[in-house]
Amino acid sequence: MHLLDHTHDVNARSWLASAQAPGGDFPIQNLPYAVFRRRGTPDMFRGGVAIGDQVLDLAALSATSALDGTALQAARAAAQSALNDFFALGPAAWRALRHALFALLKDGSAQADTVRACLVPQAGAEYTLPARIGDYTDFYTSLDHALNCMRIMYPEADVTPNFRWMPQAYHGRVSTIGVSGQQFRRPLGQSVPQGARTPAFQPCARMDYEQELGIWIGCGNAMGERIPLDAAEAHIFGIGLLNDWSARDIQVWEMAPLGPFHAKNFATTVSPWIVTLEALAPYRAAWSRPPADPQPLPYLDTPANRAAGAFDIRLEVWLHSERARREGRGPARLSGTSFRHQYWSIAQMVAHHTAGGCCLNPGDLIGSGTISGPGPGEAGALVELAHGGQRPVALGDGEERGFLQDGDTVVMRGWCEKPGAARIGLGECRGTVLPALPA
Ligand code: MN
Repeated sequence: MHLLDHTHDVNARSWLASAQAPGGDFPIQNLPYAVFRRRGTPDMFRGGVAIGDQVLDLAALSATSALDGTALQAARAAAQSALNDFFALGPAAWRALRHALFALLKDGSAQADTVRACLVPQAGAEYTLPARIGDYTDFYTSLDHALNCMRIMYPEADVTPNFRWMPQAYHGRVSTIGVSGQQFRRPLGQSVPQGARTPAFQPCARMDYEQELGIWIGCGNAMGERIPLDAAEAHIFGIGLLNDWSARDIQVWEMAPLGPFHAKNFATTVSPWIVTLEALAPYRAAWSRPPADPQPLPYLDTPANRAAGAFDIRLEVWLHSERARREGRGPARLSGTSFRHQYWSIAQMVAHHTAGGCCLNPGDLIGSGTISGPGPGEAGALVELAHGGQRPVALGDGEERGFLQDGDTVVMRGWCEKPGAARIGLGECRGTVLPALPA
């Protein structure tokens, strides 16, 4: 459990003016990690921390005398071209570096000039995946999403009985995970055309996105040794944005009985920035289960998880069509919700994942499952918003979408804000659908 300390003080300020920009994602209370380099250079990718409109270069900072002890050891690990070694150091090292960076960046720091020389403008940076991802697991843990999807076809339907007893998941594909800015071809696969009785091999006709959060595993566990629910968060480094692109027509035909395959393995996009659980501490929320629903089995239920297992992370999806970009119009907002509605918590996902003896490793990635809220306009996938394509969503200027078209760029954003706490953001996650290859 992460407690509030001086690094969450709403009144803390940085000597870097842009850290105080109203509505900014990266004030001194946030300090998220990415792997970056100056755009267009052959430099090594290395770890960096966002502050205002800059990236603090951890390789450069590690070479100064600004850090020492555990914080220096942590910064050196985080200065590599992937954050896995830093993740493996664990919560005490993560906290030591957070506290040291906070002191260096705070108004009045005697080291401001040294640190300023280690800043790279975000506008001139490019990013790569923040870690070498060994395994990727995608959950299915939003009851609103699950019900919305079921009820497109069967208005009275309920989720399968296991949904309310366990956080469901399948093992996903790592090789096609890309960082924000990813472009990929519309997938080919088998699907059954409307009115037909047999499948055809053709480009996906029902291309969709899924708004999720990416949960980055910090320290792993030994095979056969499960992670208890109350220890789960000590194994989570942080959270970023994740788009679990989905080919709905391919998915419907292929997924019984073993689950998604072509429908999901062609691309997954993550944000470059990972916000630490420590930074998210002010935005914890109670996790609850409606009294009429099954209550979790004991291994998925503790007082600590009930008290503060949820996170109030605001999320939005925007669509920027090729035509809008060509005509100089901005993106259209499709939806907005909060992660606090999720039926299962991130700690429950980790505890359940390891309950059977499966080990997790530093840099493993967990998709939260599509995040849909209870109200209209809160759905995290286009298939829900457009009711299976039957009620296309207006984009403005006469454009509408039942499913995604070639050239569409989907932009996901996330942030936290509330009175008495600093607003912190997750940045953005964008990706673009390109035309399919010929079948
Ligand atoms: Mn998904």
